Amino acid sequence: MRALTFEPGSEGTLDVREVPDPRRGQGELLVEGLAVGICGTDRELIGAGYGWPPPGEERMVIGHESLGRVLEAPDGSAFSPGELVAGVVRRPDPAPCGACARGEFDMCRNGGYTERGIKELDGFASERWTVEAGYAVKVDRALESVGALVEPASVVAKAWEQIERIGARSWFEPRTLLVTGAGPIGLLAALLGRQRGLEVHVLDRSGPGLKSSLVEGIGATYHSGSSLAEFAEAKPDLIIECTGAGPLVIDAMTTTAAAGIVCLCGLSPGGRSHRVDAGVINRDIVLENDVVFGTVNGNLRHYRDAAAALAKADLGWLERLITRRVPLTRALEAFEPAGHDNVKTVIDLTA
Ligand SMILES: [Zn+2]
Repeated sequence: MRALTFEPGSEGTLDVREVPDPRRGQGELLVEGLAVGICGTDRELIGAGYGWPPPGEERMVIGHESLGRVLEAPDGSAFSPGELVAGVVRRPDPAPCGACARGEFDMCRNGGYTERGIKELDGFASERWTVEAGYAVKVDRALESVGALVEPASVVAKAWEQIERIGARSWFEPRTLLVTGAGPIGLLAALLGRQRGLEVHVLDRSGPGLKSSLVEGIGATYHSGSSLAEFAEAKPDLIIECTGAGPLVIDAMTTTAAAGIVCLCGLSPGGRSHRVDAGVINRDIVLENDVVFGTVNGNLRHYRDAAAALAKADLGWLERLITRRVPLTRALEAFEPAGHDNVKTVIDLTA
């Protein structure tokens, strides 16, 4: 079968090659790969910035945003042939730490976890793959064209769960949300905010175009710009920061209403310094009982939450998030830079 593989640590090694068919182990599903989504992590992986091959191997199958159709399932499992599934990315560390021992491997304390397509486990960009039944999530049949969004949506579902758990420290009825960055994570965060009945604002550098239209399509308000100055008066209750841009991260910390929550989801490059008045930031956070927290990854329940959130969303809107579909035969094109109006690129594993 064909798979999209690369050599972690070496740039320019990504290609589609023939690899042996996977063999289904006990308790595992055999799955026909339908699609994988591509994100910034994949671009870092093929740029040799990141990634570890499976022990004893040089190459690894890439792809962690999966969608497939079950071909074979173990007797007595919750899955049947024909159903759509997404595979969970992370596996607990072998120790395991206290979090991993409780299924909360997204909060692993010792960093010894493994990840499909990223860290020591083959990913999902192949014509067939296997997955343990306990690490597969059912995806509604209606989501066949967009099911590769389950993984990015799981990151967002976790962010929302954490916001709500933090909010529960006191009376919590947020009304307004600001999302910074209208990439896939930001747009999905805005979608889940609208599903919770919030007034949602999305800030992005792009001018009017697909992103503004997508934001307006869920009844949220689009703001084109790169500063939070316009939110200094009517401060939002919640900010989900998805750009990782230093100045926005810093401004977010002082731009929430009292008891505000700032959820940081973006990754910043290091090496850029910004002058800040730490005293002002500290004063604002203390005197307002604010919380600033970071979040990454998701565990099984977040994938389930994500699949449920996507099933409730407008399918046409989700389809517009996928702006490029590249067949596996031309998979390298999926990694070429795309314009500002590109949201999510997906590789079609059946073509
Ligand atoms: Zn752990």
